[in-house]
Amino acid sequence: MEFIEQIRENNKHHDISSVELTPLLEEANKTYQEQFDDTVFFERSLFINWTCGIADCKYCYLSTQPKQAKHAIRHPASIYAEALICKLMGWKVGYITGGLRVEEHSYIINLLDTLHVVLGEQIMMNFGPYTKSEVSLFKPHVTGMGSAIESFDEELHNYICPSKPLKALKNFLGHLQEQGMKKLITIILGMGEKKEDVQEVIAQIKNYDINIVQLCFLKPQEHTVFDDVPSPDPNYMAWWIAQLRIAIPTLHIKVALVRERISDTSLYLQAGANNVTRFMVFKDFASEYAAELEEECKKAHRRLQGHFSEVPPIDIDKEVNQLALEENLKEQIRSKAKQYYERLLRCQREHEAED
Ligand code: SF4
Repeated sequence: MEFIEQIRENNKHHDISSVELTPLLEEANKTYQEQFDDTVFFERSLFINWTCGIADCKYCYLSTQPKQAKHAIRHPASIYAEALICKLMGWKVGYITGGLRVEEHSYIINLLDTLHVVLGEQIMMNFGPYTKSEVSLFKPHVTGMGSAIESFDEELHNYICPSKPLKALKNFLGHLQEQGMKKLITIILGMGEKKEDVQEVIAQIKNYDINIVQLCFLKPQEHTVFDDVPSPDPNYMAWWIAQLRIAIPTLHIKVALVRERISDTSLYLQAGANNVTRFMVFKDFASEYAAELEEECKKAHRRLQGHFSEVPPIDIDKEVNQLALEENLKEQIRSKAKQYYERLLRCQREHEAED
């Protein structure tokens, strides 16, 4: 059977009935409460480029684009400014990410060290795989590393990501384990996995002692082989979260939101998710989506940290002045941070005008 046919076939078996889901949710919620407090935070991923050195993963937008030149590397001051605004708004920064094998290692290390100054803490890197020596090189500059593991089914994975084989990703996880580093994986649901594959994922999480799992839906991109493959149902996402929560109570589970799935946030939290990512905060700040996110957290009896509907007063000049960085760079960060801050204020004004 052609892979794409197999993916469609497997996706047909993703239906989860309420009879199956309800008791799972109860158990998962109880397990979550035994391990964690009632807070939930929003985590922003910092993209450092819009290009990729391999650009052939079959689900990825970049695989449909001509190879981008170096100008698709984001200006560092913009990354630092975004990080600063996130910190001041009470949102967390999880990691830097982007296309693979674009920048020099020294460039990435400098980014990580400067972000450490801006945020007052180190963060993770979320792109891979990297070799053993590369992992050793990055280790002093990060709290951990990770990568998307599109599927633990080797044949399927290597069909989807021909230049990023599963073996290389597993070796990468092995290097992180040897170094005693924190590990993150991203699982994308809807790309041909079967329900029973959850057991293999649980086994691999235990095997590599993975600390954080980020769950995403396949978001079909035009002109890819997944173009018309539908995204899975929210109950299916909740089912995966609950299975992972129950099997590995201490696992940190993040769930990636898209606008049309914000109304399912309480379901994911009840299933045992710790936090949410991918909310388009610089577009949807103070919007009905932000209000819905706040409501959904309340519905799940969780306290959402940070600001989503009202911009607090922030003295950008003061905040930037106190960073232990070179003056010229601070000037660039100041200017960009003011643009980000103004963007949030503009969102707030626009949505107030609509009310
Ligand atoms: S490595 Fe990441 S950015 Fe590059 S093609 Fe694959 S999914 Fe896209």
